[in-house]
Amino acid sequence: MKAMVLKEVGRIELEELPEPEPGPDEVVIKVAYCGVCMTDVHIYDGSFPVKTPIILGHECSGIVSNIGKEVKHIEVGDHVAINPLISCGYCRYCLSGKANLCENALGVGVGGLGGRTAGRIIINGAYAEYVKVPEGNVIKFDKNVPLKYAALTEPLACAIHAIELAEVNPGDRVAIIGAGPMGLILTYLAVYRGALQVIVLDLKDERLETAKLMGASDIINPRKCNPEEVIKDITDDELVDVVIEAVGAPETVQDAFKYVRRGGTILIFGVPPKDALVNLSPFSVYFNELRIVGSFSLTPNSFLKSAELISKSRINFDYIITEIYPLEKLNEAIEKAKRGEGLKKLIKVH
Ligand SMILES: [Zn+2]
Ligand SMILES: [Zn+2]
Repeated sequence: MKAMVLKEVGRIELEELPEPEPGPDEVVIKVAYCGVCMTDVHIYDGSFPVKTPIILGHECSGIVSNIGKEVKHIEVGDHVAINPLISCGYCRYCLSGKANLCENALGVGVGGLGGRTAGRIIINGAYAEYVKVPEGNVIKFDKNVPLKYAALTEPLACAIHAIELAEVNPGDRVAIIGAGPMGLILTYLAVYRGALQVIVLDLKDERLETAKLMGASDIINPRKCNPEEVIKDITDDELVDVVIEAVGAPETVQDAFKYVRRGGTILIFGVPPKDALVNLSPFSVYFNELRIVGSFSLTPNSFLKSAELISKSRINFDYIITEIYPLEKLNEAIEKAKRGEGLKKLIKVH
């Protein structure tokens, strides 16, 4: 099969490899689409070190082409999306419903943060004609659901997990910093949960225009104004109940403290550099009862909800998917993602 293999930092090459053989409880998927994610960029440029050679790609949909002897719930020909987080099922995190924090997690084409314990091990992902995963890591779709949308099950699941942790409630004012694909999906979910205002901040006007299409009530380009003043103004001096940081920069995490009201929540969703620090006033957190929350990856529960939302066409991804590339053009797609050009890029394999 054809596969795009990360040989070392900054070098991905097309190779001919044997098709994966399923283990007893594994399924092999003929990849239809695989989304390019900022995590791919971080692994590609070396900020998330991983062992090479490896095939990346974790936002995948496709059709099951082969199954192991003990597979019970999946058949050849099923249309599926992959949950790239393989959790152990027996550690205290798995047992308490936090499979995303699993001590023994494996990532399909993703991970490499250096590890919680012995290291988050990463196995071959879906920038290839075929990928294999355990049966429990796929979810079935009706055959009438476009596989193009099913490939977004993983990113939508991460956004669902985040919006639940942020506890956006009807009538809340929400600010979302960063209108990349994830910020835009979060915008949609905040609107969906009945937010009074969803204020989106980004340095690119075209991204802000898309935020409007996703339901943002207000858009702010911090290059053109003082965002703190504008947020005060459009919220009648109330500031916002929830700030979601979807950039992953220490500066924008710091900014979140200027926009949040007393008793409010700051959710860190963007992936900051591992060693970055911010200045924080513990008094202000104490005195204003601020809640600071992180959101990492997805849970089986958010994955299920995501697949159901996609199945019922409850979310329109057409504004977000801006480019589709063939497998051979993966390097180009990653380079464009790195430069922040366009929005979601999909690799179409079959
Ligand atoms: Zn991703
Ligand atoms: Zn576990």
